[in-house]
Amino acid sequence: MYGQFLLANYDRCPLAIESGDGCHIVDETGRRYLDMITGIGVNAFGYCHPRITAVLIDQAQRCLHTSNLVSHQHQQRLAEKLCAISGLNRAFFSNSGTEAMEVALKAVRARSTPERSRLVALRGGFHGRTMGSLALTGQPDLRQNFVFPGADITFIAPNDRAALHAAIGPDTAAVALEPVLGEGGIYPLDIEFLQDARQLTQAAGAYLIADEVQCGLGRTGKYFAYQWAGILPDIAITAKPLAAGLPLGATLFTEDAAQLLPPHSHGSTFGGGPLACRVACEVLDMIDEVLPRIPELAAQFRDRLEGLMRRHAVIREIRSKGLMFGLQLSQPGRPLVDAALKKGLFVNCTQGYVLRLLPPYIVTEAEMDETVRILGEVLRGADTRASPAIVPQ
Ligand code: PLP
Repeated sequence: MYGQFLLANYDRCPLAIESGDGCHIVDETGRRYLDMITGIGVNAFGYCHPRITAVLIDQAQRCLHTSNLVSHQHQQRLAEKLCAISGLNRAFFSNSGTEAMEVALKAVRARSTPERSRLVALRGGFHGRTMGSLALTGQPDLRQNFVFPGADITFIAPNDRAALHAAIGPDTAAVALEPVLGEGGIYPLDIEFLQDARQLTQAAGAYLIADEVQCGLGRTGKYFAYQWAGILPDIAITAKPLAAGLPLGATLFTEDAAQLLPPHSHGSTFGGGPLACRVACEVLDMIDEVLPRIPELAAQFRDRLEGLMRRHAVIREIRSKGLMFGLQLSQPGRPLVDAALKKGLFVNCTQGYVLRLLPPYIVTEAEMDETVRILGEVLRGADTRASPAIVPQ
């Protein structure tokens, strides 16, 4: 029955969700599943966290929505907090990661000239599916049929410093990158690559845009993953876990970049509403508390996954940064995702051959053990044909 009236654009798992609690989801028959992808990184505190539910209910009883014709304390407080943790100076709120990227692109466009309009992005990068963000997305299968011709974009391989040096010049308007490529298969960028990107853009008078939609807000063990390299971009975007599942994206600017979007240059009906902003303030307080524990949680999970790799040759490589894990397989991942689901574990496959885990920040050691136990069962007997090239080409 499901899907009859819906656009057939998603390749969904055979799972209809009724509810969730902690790291578990419950389907319509009452069966529980351990969820290690948690809304593709959105539910950083799992399902129905009592702190989130409490502020949600309280705010719903006060005010769900006001327009941006007026102000409210939650938007102001959230902007202040995001600026404090990012090192940037001003925030604009929208409804998704894609939109947050579109706003960044508008700012870049506003300072482009015919002599300086070229963008640089990464092969395998993902920045959204609307026309601007898609143009920057370095995945040919997603671009095919949809990208408007004309945008001048140079795509280079992640971590190829020579290509980065060659790509950035006086005609570069901006470089956009995910400090850890997520949809592309979990590729952390090297510190030196990020530092080069910052130095070269600065020297060339170009902007650096950090897409932190998947890797930001504590997931790697820092508030923002660019902070591992000790750099500050001109613009950063964030979304996914920001409002615990309510649609909210943020574009963060330096004071200089913020000048590019003066009054009337951009806006959003829903962006920055009181409900989402109030919940996001609570999420950021919760991230403050959990952040010091993320590296240890990440190491505990990684240890267990490395044990799994030693027992199963079908795992060729584990790439991770904090609580982002990519298990590079030598066989397609989707059958394994389906098999894991049958055993009560929900994980995801990206790029055909990468099992992706984005566990919530509340994951326990017992839940890590259970994940690895079920993955071990489904990997047993998986074949070990050669995997495709490890680095996105
Ligand atoms: N940027 C990155 C790095 C993402 O991972 C995503 C979504 O997966 C987006 C942008 C787009 O965000 P949204 O789906 O909220 O529009």
